Amino acid sequence: MEFETRAVHGGEEKNKDKFFGSTIDMASAFPIKKFGESQDFVYSRSNSPTKQDLEKLMANLENGKYAYVFSSGMGATNAVLTLFQSGDHVIVGADVYGGTYRIIKELYPKFGIDYTFVDTTELKNIEDAVKENTKAIIVETPSNPLMDVTDIKGTVAIAKKHGIITVVDNTFLTPYLQKPLDLGADIVIHSATKFLSGHHDIIAGVVVTNDEEIGAKIKFAMRTAGGIMSPFDSWLLIRSLKTLKVRMDAAQKNTEQLVEFFQNHPAVKEVLYPTADNNKGKKIQESQASGGGAVFSFRLKDDRRVAPFFNNLKLATLAASLGGTETLVTHPATITHDDMPEKEREARGLTYSLIRVAPGIENIKDLIEDFKQALEK
Ligand SMILES: *Cc1c(COP(=O)(O)O)cnc(C)c1O
Repeated sequence: MEFETRAVHGGEEKNKDKFFGSTIDMASAFPIKKFGESQDFVYSRSNSPTKQDLEKLMANLENGKYAYVFSSGMGATNAVLTLFQSGDHVIVGADVYGGTYRIIKELYPKFGIDYTFVDTTELKNIEDAVKENTKAIIVETPSNPLMDVTDIKGTVAIAKKHGIITVVDNTFLTPYLQKPLDLGADIVIHSATKFLSGHHDIIAGVVVTNDEEIGAKIKFAMRTAGGIMSPFDSWLLIRSLKTLKVRMDAAQKNTEQLVEFFQNHPAVKEVLYPTADNNKGKKIQESQASGGGAVFSFRLKDDRRVAPFFNNLKLATLAASLGGTETLVTHPATITHDDMPEKEREARGLTYSLIRVAPGIENIKDLIEDFKQALEK
């Protein structure tokens, strides 16, 4: 079955009892049917019906065997990091989500897990960073907010050669546009808060893998440390996934038209988008994903125009998220990456003039009109 059919029908044989997603099972515990015998559902931190429906659906959509869902994307990342132990080393993409940067740099070193951040757009940098004790390569592609592209197959080849695992944060493209497990990755992480939920109304995370042993360890981390997704959020996410394709198609179409609008506007210095001609990863993006996605960034020529731009927007909203039906804009230097020392920020290209846009599904004419007046005020 094709992607959108699986997304709508739950990826399972049609379960008539649950048709149209009418049930949501909120129970925290289930009656033990027969003393001394095991059963699927006992206590909901371990397993519960609505959450399990979502897990089966997510595994199906990513072409994976095992999926586990968490109360946030960072909860999912945290579960993956519990695969490692004191003395282990991980390689992490330099341009990763701020929370991922923080957990690698400030939380896990307390438990003896060492790290190296590298620019993963050059595979040689990954190869050079591999040490005797390296256990994983963690990448985000395209990256946030610079839209850098990492070659997933190339990364996997290096990882396999050294017997280490590849973890891909697939939040920006979703399985509709990119399937890292098909490209050889061992683990996919999602912040389901973004495109998967798509309406700016839940915080949620997902881990998917094909590896039985990794799956069992992630499940152990989930049952043991908690941080699971609630039945209500699981139900809402199942509902959201039914429209993932139509939402992504609409948002990506708006994005392509806005990229063109910004590229041609005299106040704009450059536009960053995975499939734009100025992106050195364009060819790789086109070979490993079926689109550029629905996030882009641009730089204004004049820093003094940054504040008026944000202050004059009427339709697009200044906020710290992306991937929803409403268009959001953000300012990495002061909002998402303000933890980072200014020198490091500038060195990484996160200049004051950089603005990230996550187009929603509004009419393109209204979006262009809004951005035009904000750029020109
Ligand atoms: C938002 C985000 C996360 C973190 O997810 P939360 O749901 O906010 O915990 C991780 N990776 C990427 C790429 C994100 O955009």
